[in-house]
Amino acid sequence: MRLTKFTAAFAGLVLAGSLAACGDDSSDSEPEVVTDAEFDSGTTMAKLKEAGSMTVGTKFDQPGFGLLGLEDVPEGFDVEVAKIIAGAMGIAPEDIEWKQASSDIREQVIEDGDVDMVVATYTINEERAERITFAGPYYEAGQQLMVNSDNDSIEGPEDIKDNPDMKVCSVTGSTPSEQIKEYLASDDQLVLFDIYDKCKDALGNGQVDIVTTDNVILLGYVDESDGDFKLVGEQFTEEPYGIGIAKGDVEFCEFINKTLADNEDAYVAAWEATAGEVEGTETPELPEAAPCA
Ligand code: GLU
Repeated sequence: MRLTKFTAAFAGLVLAGSLAACGDDSSDSEPEVVTDAEFDSGTTMAKLKEAGSMTVGTKFDQPGFGLLGLEDVPEGFDVEVAKIIAGAMGIAPEDIEWKQASSDIREQVIEDGDVDMVVATYTINEERAERITFAGPYYEAGQQLMVNSDNDSIEGPEDIKDNPDMKVCSVTGSTPSEQIKEYLASDDQLVLFDIYDKCKDALGNGQVDIVTTDNVILLGYVDESDGDFKLVGEQFTEEPYGIGIAKGDVEFCEFINKTLADNEDAYVAAWEATAGEVEGTETPELPEAAPCA
């Protein structure tokens, strides 16, 4: 999804969003918990159903996708997608243990068996797929730039080289932190943290001038900023989000893909109750899943 579409849909969505908020009842979007599902013994689904609980890695600092709430439980679209998958194995939301999976540790927590799956704005790419298996994609984002609202020098990534004193912030282990390098005057321009929240704070207090990551993550920060931040330029990469699971668990991957395809209404409701409330976003259609490997 491109930001141009977000922007075009913006006026209508503000109205739709405020109407939806009036009748908002989060219990409406609680996913179905299937109690009579049957799975072949030995599969991950059978094991998790038998355990009655699972562990999910997600983000804790990204409004709209995964943000730790007041009850110390994360909220957002990724969280709701995980609940749909868990529910199809008979696991209720309260039986999910949430672990913070910052960008740099996602493959590792899957490989170490610390989590059963990662749903965390996680771009599918070949390098990562050497270590883990991806289900999905379940959403298509794209990299963009966020600056302070009074910054008129940066209108897109091509302007970064002309402003070599400006600092660009992103997160270690993320695809945007690599993809931005070709647009920098030198590597000294890049500031890396472990989570995006720290980039957002650094932009707010003037330690950096630009934050770069996926458009939907940045839109969450813009929405929260009360007019202090803005997005500039178009998206300049494609970031298909996948669900990370143990390498080679094709049965679990196919189960996840089928579960999402069978629950498109829940998928749309999940979006509308979370990221869809952020100004400038547009309800996605579930993309066609890639073959599991
Ligand atoms: N989707 C990109 C990635 O997986 C950026 C967002 C993130 O760091 O989670 O690296």
